[in-house]
Amino acid sequence: MLDIAPYLVTPGTEANLAARDTRSTEGFDGGKLEGKEALKPLNSTLAELQTRLWAESKQKLLIILQAMDTGGKDGTIRSVFEGVNPQGVRVWGFGAPNEWELAHDYLWRIHQRTPENGGIAIFNRSHYEDVLIVRVKGLVSEQRWRQRFDHIVEFERLLADEGTTVVKLFLHISKKEQKERLEARLREPDKRWKFNVADLEDRKLWEDFSVAYEEAISRTSSEHAPWYVVPADRKWYRDLAVASILIKALEKMNPTYPPEPDLEGVVVE
Ligand code: ADP
Repeated sequence: MLDIAPYLVTPGTEANLAARDTRSTEGFDGGKLEGKEALKPLNSTLAELQTRLWAESKQKLLIILQAMDTGGKDGTIRSVFEGVNPQGVRVWGFGAPNEWELAHDYLWRIHQRTPENGGIAIFNRSHYEDVLIVRVKGLVSEQRWRQRFDHIVEFERLLADEGTTVVKLFLHISKKEQKERLEARLREPDKRWKFNVADLEDRKLWEDFSVAYEEAISRTSSEHAPWYVVPADRKWYRDLAVASILIKALEKMNPTYPPEPDLEGVVVE
């Protein structure tokens, strides 16, 4: 387990993304090989906690994953949840809203996918796109996206008040790392399918996205739904940090198995 305190954005403070080291391996004595080994017991702990959450069926966990393109959202989900029973874990990706979704308020499609009792929902992108890409591309007026910070804080408070633990993770990569990952997608045949020419356009807007992330994270990290900024240039360290954050959150929820039924005298013929 890593000490996750450095990655918490304390509510009411600035995220200060530019000052955070995306290549950090703070608190871990070792490299990639050791890191991958160290993840295995964390996978098992997560699996055990998820079983308890599911068995208890009273609380729910929402994990929000945001990152710049190539930030590693998919890879994180794959490696951190390895060995976790897929039943009870749902992953939802949020792309550009369709016509029907656009005909509603921006939280409408989000709220429908929040987890049920005993469940874990992972949002691969989320309502944060509505203050990120929407802002950067000018899809609604500034007045409209700006008031969304308050909506979002209150929406997440509603979820928390009603029994959902909300954990928000920003996978923080550098611009240089993104270049390398995009180049790898071009170069390596098994990664080429992931290459999207539109990502190059978004890359040109790196600074604008950085400003948008900085403000979104700073304005919406709250006691009831904190943001963590995870150093994500090194995938193995990112996975350790994310697993540690999720274990901490689940330990705090402390799900317990329901009382055993009275099986005195029960015989299987
Ligand atoms: P990913 O890049 O996460 O693997 P996609 O390639 O399907 O997934 O990209 C989803 C796209 O949808 C992203 O470019 C994202 O910015 C966009 N998107 C998500 N939510 C919204 C939104 N509310 N408004 C506009 N675009 C959005």
